[in-house]
Amino acid sequence: PPGLARQLADDLNPSQREAATAADGYNLILAGPGSGKTRVITYRVAWLIGRRVPSESILLATFTRRAAREMVGRLGGLVGNEAGRVWAGTFHHVGNRLLRRAARELGFQANFTILDGEDQTDLIRLAMDDGGLASKNKLAPKPSQVQHLISFAVNTRKTLEDVVAETAGDMIEWTDEIRRVADAYAARKLASNCMDYDDLLVLWLKLLDEHPARLAEQGKMFRHILVDEMQDTNALQIEVVEKIAAAGEGNLTAVGDDAQSIYRFRGADYDNILKFPERHAGSRIFRLDVNYRSTPQIVALTQASIARNQSGFPKELVSARPDGLKPVVVAVADVYEEAALVCQQILETRDRGIPLAEMAVLYRNHYDSVVLQGELLARNIPYNVRSGIRFFEQAHVKDVLAFLRVVLNPRDEASWRRLLLLLPGIGPAKAGAVYQRLAAGGDPFSAVAAAETMATVPPKSRGLFAAFVNDLNLIRATDPENRPAAAIQAVLAGGYPATVRQRYDKPDNRIKDVEQFAVLAAKYESLERLVADLMLAGDLYGVESSGGEEPQDLLVLSSVHQAKGLEWSHVFVIRLVDDGFPNRRAVDEPGGEEEERRIFYVAVSRAKNELMLSYPSTVSRGGYGPTTFSTPSRFITEVDPELYERAELEHEFDVLDVERELRKSLEGQADGKKAT
Ligand code: ATP
Ligand code: MG
Repeated sequence: PPGLARQLADDLNPSQREAATAADGYNLILAGPGSGKTRVITYRVAWLIGRRVPSESILLATFTRRAAREMVGRLGGLVGNEAGRVWAGTFHHVGNRLLRRAARELGFQANFTILDGEDQTDLIRLAMDDGGLASKNKLAPKPSQVQHLISFAVNTRKTLEDVVAETAGDMIEWTDEIRRVADAYAARKLASNCMDYDDLLVLWLKLLDEHPARLAEQGKMFRHILVDEMQDTNALQIEVVEKIAAAGEGNLTAVGDDAQSIYRFRGADYDNILKFPERHAGSRIFRLDVNYRSTPQIVALTQASIARNQSGFPKELVSARPDGLKPVVVAVADVYEEAALVCQQILETRDRGIPLAEMAVLYRNHYDSVVLQGELLARNIPYNVRSGIRFFEQAHVKDVLAFLRVVLNPRDEASWRRLLLLLPGIGPAKAGAVYQRLAAGGDPFSAVAAAETMATVPPKSRGLFAAFVNDLNLIRATDPENRPAAAIQAVLAGGYPATVRQRYDKPDNRIKDVEQFAVLAAKYESLERLVADLMLAGDLYGVESSGGEEPQDLLVLSSVHQAKGLEWSHVFVIRLVDDGFPNRRAVDEPGGEEEERRIFYVAVSRAKNELMLSYPSTVSRGGYGPTTFSTPSRFITEVDPELYERAELEHEFDVLDVERELRKSLEGQADGKKAT
């Protein structure tokens, strides 16, 4: 189409255009932040569609669901409705969709449900009891540690035994038990027709390995595969896409920046991107060296910082933008003054006409934001925490999800347990016994109403149990599979609101949340889609946290990890002290300091126009505990001081009544955490 050709010419520079219109085959685009990598693959998809490649034969793998949505939105502007037919999403989303069609070949049912982190730990705890690794033994690894070991092994394609030996030396004596627990956990998932996040990839790969017809089918299905943020994919994800590409037409375009690889703890390895040319003889490499995002001053600082890393692939990066202000470095007395300073700067910037949504505060650890949140509340600055508790992780939302999940997959053990534990008088052991009864026959829903099941319920809980069974029947009578909103309404009409009032604080807010959940669910015509979206993205159409109508213009608070790929006009990076950023534990590990420096690099390269780096001279852990003197981050002191401006604080800052607000906000957060 002529319009598209014009846009390819107008919106891309020559090297971007060359990459976007590269010939079929294996292509790697390796370039620094802000150089247009994401723009280039979006345009490449448009270009492919313009060349009559059917949009449903294109797989576009992104790092988050939100990134996929944004790219599809841009794509819509270029190619119209065709954009919606592209397979765009995270590896987990795509895996989920593909596995639904093939679940039976793997011993699962198509209505399998997905386990979140908490469900996983619960099932691993049960598996530990089954597997003889008593969860009560104080010396034994904890369920969350076992979970991490299992997950790390599958994501790095190593054996569990090797991972235990490498990453957890002191647990080596537990190797056999950990193996038994892993097996028991896998059996439990199979029996309850549930998959955890890793299974969506592992089982996808298994399907490709063991069912040649499926491999051939997917090779045909995905004629072109494109991967954004390739540096943070792990061995498992790469194996999946490369296998499909090899089985099909061999068209794979990967985009990334090894210097922005920051997910080592999840098994990502930037070598995966650097070895791409080795793995694919004849592949083409494209480099982009113009940064369109940041001013020359910001680019100069980011480049000077990353140059301190020994490993990595050196890349040129020149700003295309006019001169701006140098980044500002400020020392403040303590975390309260830091919060006050950041708030004051934000308000001044807003007064100059910059919307709050164009500003972000970034930090290394989630708890670094707590004091700032207190100050923002005290000053009525609306904000959105991207790294906070996700909508579905709140206890009451998880409860409602558990109702929906058992309707969808009547064998879902984690959800049955959750629902049973809501009933007074039923503890973990009783819940286990009741679940055993439900699982024993073929149909948990007829079993749940049976007299023998009632007999396992403690007498004083029987009345409520009968009411619960009645609620379940009413929910199931609403045609929930096709009308998920009606099912949520039925939950609200039953005994659940009374449970909320008994068990949780702020019950009215929670019930309002559930009502809001029903409103959002009304956009879905399939319960399975609704539940999968929530479990995989943690949000529905961008709604992240509770609270009804949110004002539009929100400041963004985010961990650096959650900020990758994004950009804001004004960026504040806080808590740049040497024990926090870099993280103290990380720098003791081999390669740890370089990983931390890459995280810093990602943080500072998010800024378009202005960048402020701050560090408190005294810190107390998590905002409490003894106060200690801190040194500024090595990431500040190691770069040429010419590259930034040092700001002195001229006056004492008014710290508003943060103590009070902070306490309130902390209580709110602690509830959320405790209750989930
Ligand atoms: P990151 O490594 O942080 O993910 P990236 O390489 O993916 O960055 P993009 O996000 O694609 O970079 O682009 C950065 C910014 O520059 C975006 O705002 C994008 O719209 C803009 N941009 C990219 N290329 C051009 C261009 N040729 N002309 C004008 N603006 C551009
Ligand atoms: Mg990008």
